[in-house]
Amino acid sequence: NAKKTGKNKYLFFDQRMTLAFEEKIKIENILRKAIKEKNFKLLYQPIIEISTGEIACFEALLRLKNINLSPSLFIPVAEETDLILSIGRWVIKQAIKQLKKWEDKGYKNKHIAINLSPKQLYDTKLFSFLQDTFKENDIDPSMLEIEITENVLIENREEAIKILQKLKGLGITIALDDFGTGYSSLNYLTFIPVDKIKLDKSLSDKFLELRNTQVIDSLISLAHSLNLKVVAEGIEDMKQYEKLKRGGCDYIQGYLFSKPLNGELEKIYNKNFFDFIANNIS
Ligand code: C2E
Ligand code: MG
Ligand code: MG
Ligand code: MG
Repeated sequence: NAKKTGKNKYLFFDQRMTLAFEEKIKIENILRKAIKEKNFKLLYQPIIEISTGEIACFEALLRLKNINLSPSLFIPVAEETDLILSIGRWVIKQAIKQLKKWEDKGYKNKHIAINLSPKQLYDTKLFSFLQDTFKENDIDPSMLEIEITENVLIENREEAIKILQKLKGLGITIALDDFGTGYSSLNYLTFIPVDKIKLDKSLSDKFLELRNTQVIDSLISLAHSLNLKVVAEGIEDMKQYEKLKRGGCDYIQGYLFSKPLNGELEKIYNKNFFDFIANNIS
């Protein structure tokens, strides 16, 4: 009997492994096809400056055009297979073209933020690709923000710092994404050359509890003392917004204000969220 159970266990284990492997292959094939057929699109989610109520930046978030597959599933596969390099170049090009489109229509003061995987950061062609794309579209590099995570430090800390400094030298703003997940050693903040930190949704959620308010307030103060701006992401609730505002948080992003948008961005471009906030205060 025990023998039988043991055998079944292995069988079950094998099936799960096969399934995971097959899933990955399936996603890899979807991505290869999407690259060939240009089946990607970017959604844009507004990031609001708390002191003015205005949109400061739009974060570009990648989607497949015809398939409902979350980037938290397909981005890791793209990273593993190096497909992230060509997908990432498409994202960069698209975002800079969008900045150009806005400029041509007279909209010229909002930044676009893109997410950059560690593999992209270490790509030796990244810097010249960025320079060329800015030049082709006549866009000032300071209109672009790049969001990285602390994972860029794992492979080669010194090299990552050098590359980030070079990007900053071009005028690009660097944000440390998903802060509060992973190790998020506070020590990182003293040497990683970033301009902003983005507090992860999991941190902001905890913010509703009183004791954690003090922790996040202190985190914001610490960031400010290091000359870093603070963005809170995943804000869905007016109470969270009020607490973050009181704590001195600089920017806010979340469904409370807007989901990631598909086109029609001109309608919202100059919207001021103060009215929205005034109408929603309890
Ligand atoms: P992220 O960069 O931390 O982006 C924030 C994620 O939170 C987005 O998920 C966004 O849609 C979601 N979000 C924003 N506000 C709220 C809210 O109020 N509530 C909730 N529940 N969620 C909210 P999304 O678009 O599914 O992207 C997931 C992750 O995939 C991103 O996390 C980023 O790490 C990665 N990703 C997305 N696009 C790209 C890309 O072009 N390149 C790379 N390398 N990674 C990307
Ligand atoms: Mg991000
Ligand atoms: Mg994030
Ligand atoms: Mg995230």
